[in-house]
Amino acid sequence: MPLPKAELHLHIEGTLEPELAFELAARNDVSLPYADTEALRDAYRFTDLQSFLNLYYELMTVLRTERDFADLADAYLARAAAQGVRHAEIFFDPQAHLARGVGMDTVVDGLWRALGTSRERHGVSTRLILCFLRDESAESALATLDAARPHLDRITGVGLDSAEVGHPPAKFREVFEAAAALGLRRVAHAGEEGPPEYITEALDVLGVERIDHGLRCLEDPALVERLARERIPLTLCPLSNVRLRTVDTLADHPLPALLDAGLMCTLNSDDPAYFGGYVGDTFDAVREVLGLDGERLRELARNSFLASFLEDDEELRARCLAEVAAYDLG
Ligand SMILES: [Zn+2]
Repeated sequence: MPLPKAELHLHIEGTLEPELAFELAARNDVSLPYADTEALRDAYRFTDLQSFLNLYYELMTVLRTERDFADLADAYLARAAAQGVRHAEIFFDPQAHLARGVGMDTVVDGLWRALGTSRERHGVSTRLILCFLRDESAESALATLDAARPHLDRITGVGLDSAEVGHPPAKFREVFEAAAALGLRRVAHAGEEGPPEYITEALDVLGVERIDHGLRCLEDPALVERLARERIPLTLCPLSNVRLRTVDTLADHPLPALLDAGLMCTLNSDDPAYFGGYVGDTFDAVREVLGLDGERLRELARNSFLASFLEDDEELRARCLAEVAAYDLG
């Protein structure tokens, strides 16, 4: 049985495996510019965040119906469960779907078909986090939040993702204020490709409770000290950082330095279909390549539950934490 863990940084659209992409393309009569799944996998050699995003948005066009979104989420939850995930806080990008004529109802109702039954079917509790695309306008983000209003009983929080550089968090001050007023939790990608100042801005201007990625905080010692002191969780995604060339190799990843600095780190898979592994694979890879010992892995698993938005289910959190504490890491 794998180490129990929560996954807090996972884009559901980034779990679209080539096989499912072709299956949905056939079902929906969408043609993909790749001969087969092998040719598509060959396209997964990215040079930076933008080159990944281009393919990510291209492949998304196969997602059209509620059933497609349900199948996508169900496939992720089955894989996650097999790798020890007990709780998943799942990002989705509604603007990418609304822009191509797929409605908010289709997306949320479809995802919920899988998420709403996940605990019984896979033993994975779930939360849904609506992400705004930071390379779209602030007005578009506000309109998206508005479109999501009928679904807020199924949406726990809001996030901020997509191309970071040139799109500082402050651009989204208004929509994050509106989300807070609606009682939504707040997170944001910051300090992945963007500078450490974006991390500070996400905390101070957007009021986020977690930073997604955040590894560039290491360039600012005062910021590192603050993140440690305030116990701000970082949702790190080492395999993503390697694939998107944020770090050269996994051996160069600053995870050990971040842990040594006393930061509340968690491990996550980001877009696992594109980045070569799910969250259990990520734990295995950092253990092997970065030489993290069992207690460090236990700390990462414990942090994932502590940093999760499980305030409405403290019983589950306590049970998972007890399992992590008792787990035999050899
Ligand atoms: Zn991400």
